[in-house]
Amino acid sequence: MHYHPLNYIEPLYRPPSEANSLILQITNGCSWNKCTFCEMYTDPQKKFRPKPESEVLAEIKQVAERMPDVRRIFLADGDAMVLSFKRLQAILEGIKQHFPNINRVSAYCLPRNLNNKTDQELLALKQAGLDLLYVGAESGDDQVLEWVQKGETFDSTVTALNRLGDAGIKRSVMILNGLGGSQFTQQHALNSARLANATQPEYLATLVVSFPKGEERFQQGFEGQFQALNQQQLFLEMELMLETLDLKKTIFRSDHASNYLVLKGVLGKDKQRMLDMVRSAIADPTHAGLRPEWARGL
Ligand code: SF4
Repeated sequence: MHYHPLNYIEPLYRPPSEANSLILQITNGCSWNKCTFCEMYTDPQKKFRPKPESEVLAEIKQVAERMPDVRRIFLADGDAMVLSFKRLQAILEGIKQHFPNINRVSAYCLPRNLNNKTDQELLALKQAGLDLLYVGAESGDDQVLEWVQKGETFDSTVTALNRLGDAGIKRSVMILNGLGGSQFTQQHALNSARLANATQPEYLATLVVSFPKGEERFQQGFEGQFQALNQQQLFLEMELMLETLDLKKTIFRSDHASNYLVLKGVLGKDKQRMLDMVRSAIADPTHAGLRPEWARGL
């Protein structure tokens, strides 16, 4: 008989790069849960709730007895970093104690999750083993952020990312292509690039916005005016963003299943190569090796 010591409330989400990580669910859902493009935690069982600390620590111990060699752990769900410094530190210490070979602990993080943590506490979390945070910036444009109800601004996101950077915690920043529709495509591209330039994250990824459950909620924020970008417009938005990016050493990935064109490289070194690829796709989409529509995972 298989006995699984992890008590998950599904569905569970994790970034693609955490495919081989142990997922430790220390909170359920997302405490914000208002972004109009996000349908991850809308099921009734996903109402936000932190998992009691004693339960989390007991799970860590039980999993470690069966799988002591775990090297990577992702703390779920949507904003595990909303927990207090003390709670996070206790969990990280528990991980360190029971998994001697651990070399990466990561989580999603909202900029506002840092409001109740001092710079010193961020440093202490880093020392306790927190290595990488995925920050869904989505856009650097205040208008777009307001209309999608992200509850953050260019400034709040830049401040949080820079505080994490100063604490030595790696940042993986996500931008949603097409989030402003045709109305805001230019300012979305320009300000998202400015946000990355101002923070120099270690990782930058783009995904294409999509609405598997329909776009009604999203349209309300745009007063019914949202016009989704077509493939060509998505490439033009990517071109403008890449042109504006001025990064020193950021691993860039646009390889999520939602993208038509797969781009990977280090910015700035590979900027020209990636720009050339986007421009070829704009000039001749039939020969650019694009991911066919049926293969796009939305
Ligand atoms: S903060 Fe993240 S998880 Fe929460 S609603 Fe927004 S996109 Fe979804």
